Amino acid sequence: MAIVGAGIGGLAAAVALRQRGFEVEIFERSAELGEVGAGLQIGPNGVKVLRALGLEAELMKNAFEPFSIMSVTWDEGRLRFRQPLKAIAREKYGAPYMSAHRADLHTMLHRAIGDTRLTLDAACIGADTVNGAAVARFADGTSAEADIVIGADGIRSAIRAQYFGDGAPRFTEMVAWRCIVPMECVPERIGPAAKSRSPMASILAGSGRTATSSATRSA
Ligand SMILES: Cc1cc2nc3c(=O)[nH]c(=O)nc-3n(C[C@H](O)[C@H](O)[C@H](O)COP(=O)(O)OP(=O)(O)OC[C@H]3O[C@@H](n4cnc5c(N)ncnc54)[C@H](O)[C@@H]3O)c2cc1C
Repeated sequence: MAIVGAGIGGLAAAVALRQRGFEVEIFERSAELGEVGAGLQIGPNGVKVLRALGLEAELMKNAFEPFSIMSVTWDEGRLRFRQPLKAIAREKYGAPYMSAHRADLHTMLHRAIGDTRLTLDAACIGADTVNGAAVARFADGTSAEADIVIGADGIRSAIRAQYFGDGAPRFTEMVAWRCIVPMECVPERIGPAAKSRSPMASILAGSGRTATSSATRSA
C-alpha cells in the first residue's frame, strides 16, 4: 500500500494497515516531519481509534483529560454553562475526552509506524491505474507502484482534486488564530481549575467571535 501524506490520517492508516499485515510505504511532501499545529481535542471516538491501534496508554502520557467544558461570555467572563466531561465521557461513550498538542499525537503515530518506509520531499501530483496497479506520481518525475494508493494528503489533496475535482478550499471569512500560552499566564476567569493538571476546556463566545482553550502538555 502506498500512502500519500504523513499527517494524522496517513500515519494512523499506516499503523492500522501494518498491524493487519499489510506492507506500507508513506510518501510525504515536506522535507521533514516537524512540530506543526497547537492544541487539539480528541473526542471519545478518536480515543477509541487510538485504543484499537494499541496507543491509548501512550496517548495518556502527554494528554490531558479536562474536568468539564464550559462556555463563558467573552467580555465579562460570566458562566453560560458547564458540561462535565471527565465524569461522564468514559461511562457514556466508552472512552475519555482528551486534549493534547498535535505534535505529540503526530510524534506518537510517527513512532508507531516503526520501520515503515517513509519518503520525504515526495510531492504527489496524482495517481492512476496502470496495467492493474495503482501508481502515484511525484513532482520530481518519479513514481511509486502499489496495489492501492491512499490519498491522505490533507485539505489541498492532489489525489482528491484529480478524482473529485473539488476545487480550491472556499474561504468562509472565518479565521482561526492559534497560540500557546504557559499555564501560569492563563487568566483566572478561564476557570478556577485552569492551573491544575486537569483543567477545563473553555469557550469564550460573543460578538461573532469565539476563543477556545484546551490544555496541551507540561513543560
Ligand atoms: C485551527 C484548527 C484546529 C483544529 N482542531 C482540531 C481538534 O481540536 N480536534 C480534531 O480532531 N481536529 C482538529 N482539527 C482538524 C485536524 O487538524 C484535521 O482534521 C487533521 O489534521 C486532518 O488530518 P489529515 O491527515 O487528513 O491532514 P494533515 O494532518 O493536514 O496531513 C496531510 C499531510 O499530507 C502532506 N501533503 C499534502 N499534500 C501532499 C502532496 N501533494 N504529496 C505528499 N504529501 C502531501 C502534508 O504535508 C501533511 O503532512 C483542527 C484543524 C485546524 C486548522
